[in-house]
Amino acid sequence: MADPVRKTFIVDCPVCKAKVAANEHGCVRRSGGMDNEGELHYGISVSLGVCPKCRSILVGESQQIGIESFDSEFDEWADAIRVYPEPPKIFASERIPKLVSDSISEAVKSLQANANVAACVMFGRALEAICRDLLEPAQSANAVPPPAAPKRPIMLGEGISMLKDKGLIDQRLFDWSQQLHAFRNIAAHPTDRTISREDADDLRSFVYAIIEYIYDLTDRYNEFKERLAKKKTK
Ligand SMILES: [Zn+2]
Repeated sequence: MADPVRKTFIVDCPVCKAKVAANEHGCVRRSGGMDNEGELHYGISVSLGVCPKCRSILVGESQQIGIESFDSEFDEWADAIRVYPEPPKIFASERIPKLVSDSISEAVKSLQANANVAACVMFGRALEAICRDLLEPAQSANAVPPPAAPKRPIMLGEGISMLKDKGLIDQRLFDWSQQLHAFRNIAAHPTDRTISREDADDLRSFVYAIIEYIYDLTDRYNEFKERLAKKKTK
């Protein structure tokens, strides 16, 4: 008996460092729709498959972006983002501005599409948003912007120096930030220089470390100190 034609889904393979058409071995799909309050909820689809080249097991998660007969003619699904192996990083701190997390998730999508230049632009955007969040608290991404912004927003280069001057990052994170800034500049301007996936992957690690240090670890340390102080007063 002939094998039934196997379905495939497009996902990034971390071993091949390329988008591959993984052979699908299973898929769970929950379509979205309208709830009782009339609000649209988009669905999610998770596919399990195998890389046709290196035989790695791959799991991709895809968000619904269009719902048939509501906001689209057909159900539409975004490209799958790999969630296994090496799932996207999840940060714990609730202080991380949406602009930062959105930029990171765009960057990860770009990396998985081998769009390294676009990924670097997004990593730079994330770092710039961190600078503005910490250095312009009234105009942070989470706050409602004032009707007329009176001041020029902080740019990446000066923001990084200010983070260092205020002791919010140490020398090493400052050096990494400088590298990110340099790559962001290469990426943002129309030159013929390319950026390798390896470099873009390293820059991702640096951005993650900076976010972890500034938000997650700082929150954790503050909680730790509070706990110790409470114990003392008992
Ligand atoms: Zn592969």
